[in-house]
Amino acid sequence: LLEKRRNGTVLEINLDAVVDNFNFFRSRVRPDTGMVCMIKASGYGAGSHELAKTLQSQGASYLAVAVHDEGVDLRQAGITMPIIVLNPAVDDLNAIFDSHLEPEIYSVDFLRSLIAEARRRGIKDYPVHIKIDSGMHRLGFRLDTLPEVIEVLRSQDCVSPSSIFSHLCAADDPSEDEYTLRQFDYFERCCVMLRSAFPGRRILSHILNSTGITRFPGQQRDMVRLGIGLYGIRTMHDGSQDELRPISSLSTSVISVKHWEAGTTIGYNRRGILSRDSVIATVPVGYADGINRHLGYGNASFCVRGVLCPTVGSICMDSCMIDVTGIPGVQPGDRVEIFGDSVPVEAIADTLGTIPYEVLTSISQRVKRVYY
Ligand code: PLP
Repeated sequence: LLEKRRNGTVLEINLDAVVDNFNFFRSRVRPDTGMVCMIKASGYGAGSHELAKTLQSQGASYLAVAVHDEGVDLRQAGITMPIIVLNPAVDDLNAIFDSHLEPEIYSVDFLRSLIAEARRRGIKDYPVHIKIDSGMHRLGFRLDTLPEVIEVLRSQDCVSPSSIFSHLCAADDPSEDEYTLRQFDYFERCCVMLRSAFPGRRILSHILNSTGITRFPGQQRDMVRLGIGLYGIRTMHDGSQDELRPISSLSTSVISVKHWEAGTTIGYNRRGILSRDSVIATVPVGYADGINRHLGYGNASFCVRGVLCPTVGSICMDSCMIDVTGIPGVQPGDRVEIFGDSVPVEAIADTLGTIPYEVLTSISQRVKRVYY
């Protein structure tokens, strides 16, 4: 059945591996620590519906998405658990309330607009999540701007802080641990300030991402936010994350095989020049599928019949060519693994001088996602 599903270009996602990775991190925190699962950017490229259903059934506390559309889409797919929207905008307010999405608050202006809309709708105690900038310097309140947020929050009863949170900027870099520890201290001071303004109210706090859970479990507080680790990508290579299982593999099928003489040029601008008589296979994935052009010209190899085959010439929009010379019997229909068991996604990221997050989230929507 799997072989049949693999026909054509597919991103296969192993939901058992998602569960195992979720449980790997869950076993590293206290049983009562909440798990916020980051399924923004369409589940880091893996597609969010199936992941959300799986995580909902595993008892995750929250899902988090970047933009409200992603949250609305999850609601339409039947996801009922709480969803945090990290980058909400004033224009999204109606959708946020209609789909009961819980916005991050990073600006007083947005908070005021949210309160006005909640009041218009007669809503009380709508849950929001207060973002602290503890050192990333991207979004969030600092100790000097937090008092204004507190004042606005205390002056009304339409919205209510459910949690306060911050994001680490260098959790995976031990040489920056001193800075990370300062982020923890700064965040704690903000938590004290907010909580003391709302005595008797339970406001959850959270700061750890995947690497943070691995390296700083003492900072797990009330919840942790699990992202890349859920997808089985190791951010630490010291053995501490060896149990993680990659959840996805990207593959396609050979559509054409041709023999060419030495000296023949392959592809655009004649950039792929054959130095020997060769067998070249064409595969139907290109940069419009998320195969970066820098993977052309032999910079990357895809796996056919257990052998790594370098790309030849440029990656085209919808196809590319690989050198299958010397591999017996390669024919149209043969499976070509772009990443998966034989080629780790980390290797592709290294070739591109980027991080696995970018490789995974670049796989375009026209690539079929298959879950098993
Ligand atoms: N929290 C926030 C605010 C994020 O933006 C992200 C990811 O970018 C995460 C948590 C998860 O981080 P990671 O994927 O490194 O676990």
